[in-house]
Amino acid sequence: MANTFTEPESSPLLLLLGEGQDPLSERGVDCPGGLPAPSDPNLVQRAEAARQALGDRAFILGHHYQRDEVIAFADVTGDSFKLAQKAAARPDSEFIVFCGVHFMAESADILTTDEQIVVLPDMAAGCSMADMAAADQVEDAWRTLESVGVADATIPVTYMNSTAAIKAFTGEHGGTICTSSNAEQSLRWAFEQGEKVLFLPDQHLGRNTAVLDLGLDLSDCVVFDPHRPGGGLTPQQLADARMILWRGHCSVHGRFTEQSVDEIRAKVPDVNVLVHPECRHEVVLKADYVGSTEYIIKALAAAEPGSSWAIGTELNLVRRLAEEHQDKRIMFLDRTICYCSTMNRIDLPHLVWALVSLAEDRIVNQIVVGPATAHWARVALDRMLALPGVGAVPSD
Ligand code: SF4
Repeated sequence: MANTFTEPESSPLLLLLGEGQDPLSERGVDCPGGLPAPSDPNLVQRAEAARQALGDRAFILGHHYQRDEVIAFADVTGDSFKLAQKAAARPDSEFIVFCGVHFMAESADILTTDEQIVVLPDMAAGCSMADMAAADQVEDAWRTLESVGVADATIPVTYMNSTAAIKAFTGEHGGTICTSSNAEQSLRWAFEQGEKVLFLPDQHLGRNTAVLDLGLDLSDCVVFDPHRPGGGLTPQQLADARMILWRGHCSVHGRFTEQSVDEIRAKVPDVNVLVHPECRHEVVLKADYVGSTEYIIKALAAAEPGSSWAIGTELNLVRRLAEEHQDKRIMFLDRTICYCSTMNRIDLPHLVWALVSLAEDRIVNQIVVGPATAHWARVALDRMLALPGVGAVPSD
């Protein structure tokens, strides 16, 4: 019998680059106008000329996981929340060019003034983790919690790496946002407000924080699968759980395995293993240190010369840190290459295209969050900012 494959009707077709809209994703894929060819030998000069023409009108943000060719043009680098804060501190910049992914640009739009225009150089730069929690799925999940009588005791806590719609859901349902740096404070706050937490969308950050920082037991955590009726859980399981973890994960950090840690320890016996809390719980348990991107950067800066480090986070950042700290032995934790493919969609041709367009007063790829969504998302973000030690959005 012939072995043929038929595309299932419900499955999204692969979209051609720069065409159409992906209905299952937070992102679009339209990229109007002509992109410069990657082989254009004048890309750097064109970017420099457009940057100079824009002057203070534009502020370019570069996420830590971006390519070097993009980071070279960033006015500031950082994690997603730090970059949104930096954008908010620049109210005089007309254009915020966000070299990151879609949800990050949304956060910048929420935190900046109505007059500022946030631009994402490639609309296809989304986040697979953010896509794992769609607004209608989360609404359905909440109805499930209501139907089994636990919604009133449940506080949503949502990771920054989520769409504006999910942040708004969180604000509207009495919850807060967290980053990988302040997840512990956010969870402690949530457990003062209610008996249970619905943690969205990264199950690993939720589990790692609940178990390792708050001392909960693994058996206190259940995973809610939005693709299964009732989340794949019984009413009793939902009633007993303290942490209801959304079944989402980061496709980059989720790749590191216990085997990655064992292999590097066998090869480099004195190695320090340092991983991001988006890694799986088993990997975090085997690591020596766990912390956010900013924590990783600081830990390596403070490390002893000659010390060895295997880092479990995105490869662009690890490579730059290895170049920066050549007095230390800094390695990538996994044998296989592990870039964030969607983050890497922002390349020099897209940045040139965005900057040249703005310099010619053509607004492209603007990210706009609707007023109601922005309002409730801001409510949730403000709850996080009010947590002790987290700090407000700077005004200058
Ligand atoms: S590294 Fe992971 S969480 Fe961050 S943007 Fe990429 S897929 Fe999303």
